[in-house]
Amino acid sequence: MAKICLCLSAKTLERNLEILGKYRKYADIAELRVDCLDPNERLMIRRFPELADIPVILTIRRVVDGGFFDGGEGARINLMARGLAYADADKRRNFAYLDLENDLDVPSLEEAARTFGTRIIRSYHNIETTDADLPFIIRSIPHSGNDIIKASVKANSTRDVLSLLRAGRECTGQDKILIAMGHYGIYSRILAEKFGSFMNYSAVLNEPDISISAPGQVDIKELAELYRFHKITANTKVYGVIGHPLKSTGSPRFFNTIFNIESINAVYVPFPVDSLSTFFELAQELKVCGLSVTVPYKEAVIPFLNNHHLDIIDIGACNTLLMGLQGWEGTNTDARGFSDSLLKFYGKSNIKKHRVTVIGAGGAAQAVVHELHRLGAKILILNRSAYKARDLAARYKCKWGGLDNRGIEMMDKFHDIIIQATSLGMDGCDTAGSSTDPVEMYRFSGKEEVMDLVYNPEMTPFLKRAANAGCRYQNGYDMLIRQACYQYARFTGKDFPEHLTSRVQFGNT
Ligand code: NAP
Repeated sequence: MAKICLCLSAKTLERNLEILGKYRKYADIAELRVDCLDPNERLMIRRFPELADIPVILTIRRVVDGGFFDGGEGARINLMARGLAYADADKRRNFAYLDLENDLDVPSLEEAARTFGTRIIRSYHNIETTDADLPFIIRSIPHSGNDIIKASVKANSTRDVLSLLRAGRECTGQDKILIAMGHYGIYSRILAEKFGSFMNYSAVLNEPDISISAPGQVDIKELAELYRFHKITANTKVYGVIGHPLKSTGSPRFFNTIFNIESINAVYVPFPVDSLSTFFELAQELKVCGLSVTVPYKEAVIPFLNNHHLDIIDIGACNTLLMGLQGWEGTNTDARGFSDSLLKFYGKSNIKKHRVTVIGAGGAAQAVVHELHRLGAKILILNRSAYKARDLAARYKCKWGGLDNRGIEMMDKFHDIIIQATSLGMDGCDTAGSSTDPVEMYRFSGKEEVMDLVYNPEMTPFLKRAANAGCRYQNGYDMLIRQACYQYARFTGKDFPEHLTSRVQFGNT
C-alpha cells in the first residue's frame, strides 16, 4: 500500500516538529526539506530523526529542481554528510531515507547511507515539462539494491500524465515514486497506489507560514480523510469528474463522503482533461469505472460512447459515464436532477402550458429544455450564439432568439419561469470583461419564478437582480445534489440513501 509522506518545509526545525505533531496521524513518513530551513538551522539537522520519531527523508533540493538550496554542490554534499554523520546503531535515530538526484555521483555518501540502513531515493526532476524520452530516463537512473527510483515531472497536459503512467509501468521490480507535478497531475498523487508509487508527498495547506513545496501537492488531511488514501488498494474502484479547466470542483467531496459513509471501496478524483481521446486511453489503463462530465465536455463525450441511453440521443448531452462490458455507457442525470428540483421549487407537479424562458443552449440547457418539453411547458430559448438556440428549438418546436433586444422583448411572453443555464456568473467563467448577467436588459416584474443553474457563487449577478425585484429564486445547488444522487445510483447500482442527503455536501477541493 502506498505511503503518505508529509513534506516539512518550515524555516526552523522547531516549527517542523510542531507541524509534524499536528498532522502526524496522517503521515507514514516525513520529508525534511533542509533547503527550506534558515541557514543556521541547517547545521542542526542531525538530531531531527530522533526528535521526529517517524521515518524521515533527508532532502536538500537544488533551485534547478524546484528547491531553494543555492549554496553550491560542495556545501550541499557537506550538509548531507552532516545529516548522516555519527550514525546510531538504533536506526530510528538516523535518517531513514536520503534523496540523491540521479546526476549526483558521490559514492562516499551512498556508502555512508547504505552502511547504516538509510535507503536511497534516486530522484529525477523536471520542473518545466514531461520529457519525451521519460521511459529511457527512468531506466537510466543509476540505482542498486533496494534504492527507490523517483521521477517527478511537470505535466502540462493529459498526455504528459499518461506518459508518466506508462513510463512507470515499464519499470517493474523496483520501488518507485511517480509524480506528475501541477494541476493536470493532481490525480497521480491521489492515486499513487494505482500509479504503482511507493509513496505520495503531501503538504499542509492551512498553515499560514508554510507554502507548498511542489505544485499540485494535496493537503495531507484531505488526502487521508477525504480521499482515504490509505484504503486505496488494487481493488478500489476509481471514479472521477472530467472537465476543463476544472480549477475547483465540489464533486470529490460529495462522492468520497458518501463512499466513506456507505463503506464502498471506491475513490472519486478530479481529472483535469485537455484531450478527451488521450484521457480515455489513460482511463482504460487506470481502469476508471465511472465519470461525471462537466463543462465543456457534455456534448463532446458522446462520440466516445459505446452505448447510449435513449435520453442521450434525445438530449444531445451526457453528464455521466459508466464503464460497461463493451465500453463507455452514457446517461444524463442533469435532466431529472433539474426537473425534480424545478417542480419542488415551483411547488407544482404540473407546468403544462406554463411559459418558460431558457437562457443558454449548451449541455445543461439541452437537458433543461428536454425536461420542460416533457412536462409540457411552452419554451423560449435565448443564446449568445443564436444558431445554437435555433437548432435546439427546432428539436422541440419552440421559440428561439439571441441575447439581443429582440430576444429580450420575446421574454415578456415567456416569463412564468426563467431559467439561467449559461456559465455566466459562475466562478472561473472567463467573460473577458463583459457582463456576467446574460439578460441585463430584461426588467424583472417581480412575478417571475427564477432559477439559475450556477451554484458557485450562491448568488450570481442575474439572481441578485431577480431577488432585488422581488422574484422567488433558487440557485443550482439543489439540482446539483439531485443529479449527483442519480449519478451515485448509476455508479453503485444502489439508490442514494435519502436520509444522508443533508450529511453529504458539495464543497470545493
Ligand atoms: P456548456 O455546454 O459549455 O454551455 C455554455 C453555455 O453558456 C452556452 O449556452 C454558451 O453560449 C453560454 N456562455 C458561455 N459564456 C458566455 C458568455 N460570455 N456570454 C453569454 N453566454 C455564454 O456548459 P453547460 O454544461 O451547459 O453548463 C452551463 C452552466 O450550467 C455552468 O455554469 C454549469 O456549472 C451549470 N450547470 C449546473 C448544473 C447543476 O446541477 N446545478 C448542472 C449542469 C450545469 P454559446 O453557445 O454562445 O457559447
